[in-house]
Amino acid sequence: MSKILVCANEKGGVAKTTTTVNLGIGLAKKGKRVLVIDNDPQGSLTVALGFHNPGQMEYTMTTVYNNVIDEVEFDPREAILHHKEGVDLVPANNSLNSIETALITVMGRETILSEYLGMVKDDYDYIIIDCSPNLGMLTLNALAAGDEIIIPVQPTFLAIKGLEELLRVINQIHKKINQSLEIKGILLTMVDSRTNYAKDIAEMLDEAYGSKINIFKNKIPHSVRAAESTTVGKSIYEYDPKGTVATAYEALTTEVIA
Ligand code: ADP
Ligand code: MG
Repeated sequence: MSKILVCANEKGGVAKTTTTVNLGIGLAKKGKRVLVIDNDPQGSLTVALGFHNPGQMEYTMTTVYNNVIDEVEFDPREAILHHKEGVDLVPANNSLNSIETALITVMGRETILSEYLGMVKDDYDYIIIDCSPNLGMLTLNALAAGDEIIIPVQPTFLAIKGLEELLRVINQIHKKINQSLEIKGILLTMVDSRTNYAKDIAEMLDEAYGSKINIFKNKIPHSVRAAESTTVGKSIYEYDPKGTVATAYEALTTEVIA
């Protein structure tokens, strides 16, 4: 049975894309069949996996959404790319912005992505959807399709406060659209564990949500090498295999499978 994970937080820059890359490849390294979906018009996941010209790609998430919306027959694998570290990818570019608006007038507009994933999910153990930093139609499609959400957050006071809105939306989706949706966990990212501040925030998060929501035991440390890796389009395992961030994502992968 395949599992659909959604990496979501309407805040940008919290390591959704970095987590999708390194959890996805982490799972592939453990022998899992993995598909990652770039559900963000910015195409950051596509670029972070080393595909540097998403704007020139013919088959992307835009074609996928359009084909399902128009109910045309198409090969669901035509947009799937293979990455050398073992994951498959459906890429995206900024043409996906057109779908965000087109969806508004479509019947069954929340379940287009879910319909697509139904065509390919038997080929995979895990599908991870990387979301854009908002709660628009594309993110709604991801949450409607997902089994479990992973919420990356940076350990700052405002970021923790900002979770309330996301949790409210997840609750609504759970009630109205997707009863099987669960929160897999909150993942602390870019943590500078040398400071007391990070520790205080982690404790605050635990007090506020720890009894209701899983908070991953493994936190992702802050590291310049991690920031560099996404810029050059490499996974942390390839760019800095012995570093703290590679070790943390590997441990997170084990925690996600358990
Ligand atoms: P999002 O997808 O939530 O917008 P990204 O994954 O693109 O976030 O990460 C935002 C920025 O932070 C990127 O420049 C990325 O390279 C950097 N980054 C991600 N993880 C780390 C980390 N562990 N330490 C330092 N920088 C990181
Ligand atoms: Mg991103």
